[in-house]
Amino acid sequence: MERLDREFKPLLRPYNLDYLETYSGAVYGVWKNFRLAYLNPGWYRFARENRGGPYVSREWKLGRSILDGISSDLKGFYAAKFKACLHSHTVWSHDCECSDRTIYRCCHQIVYPLSQQAGLLIVNSLIVEGVRGPVPALESTADQSIYLDKNGFFCQCAYCRRMKNFRDRERWDWIPAWVNRYPKNTSHTFCPSCFAHYFPAAAAKGA
Ligand SMILES: [Zn+2]
Repeated sequence: MERLDREFKPLLRPYNLDYLETYSGAVYGVWKNFRLAYLNPGWYRFARENRGGPYVSREWKLGRSILDGISSDLKGFYAAKFKACLHSHTVWSHDCECSDRTIYRCCHQIVYPLSQQAGLLIVNSLIVEGVRGPVPALESTADQSIYLDKNGFFCQCAYCRRMKNFRDRERWDWIPAWVNRYPKNTSHTFCPSCFAHYFPAAAAKGA
């Protein structure tokens, strides 16, 4: 099944399609009318893991409006936020429910406006609560070592504040407890999608 609208592809240039394709979470792109123009393999993986597989694959194809998947009481809210993001060229991030009918799951979603107000790129990250570590000491549900690089540093994006998860090749997690109080041995960098948004010319050159 087609996952990328050919006319949408140039808009993703700074974002590096290889990165988006390898990214562990669900990423999708929409035209300015909110109709799907790109779905990465992570979208299908997420759907499968959340038992939304067949439903999602059948229903969610290019051309479908993402507003169709939002409940009627929230549709106006999301449409307004997406429009503001598009027209002000300002990134919008928030936590949202990405559940299907059977499983409840929350995601941290970052919405990047694409050039010329042509569309949006939506990047989802897992929310990881209760990482055990020096800051802060919380109940353990995740092993902090997966966030350490080989030199013993945590790596946080200076813009979106997500932490690099070294277990997967391309993965950044949202750890609420570490957003403002990150561990001492944290180095700051730019995740690839923030780099693409804030430094598009440099990112496009490297793509
Ligand atoms: Zn970032």
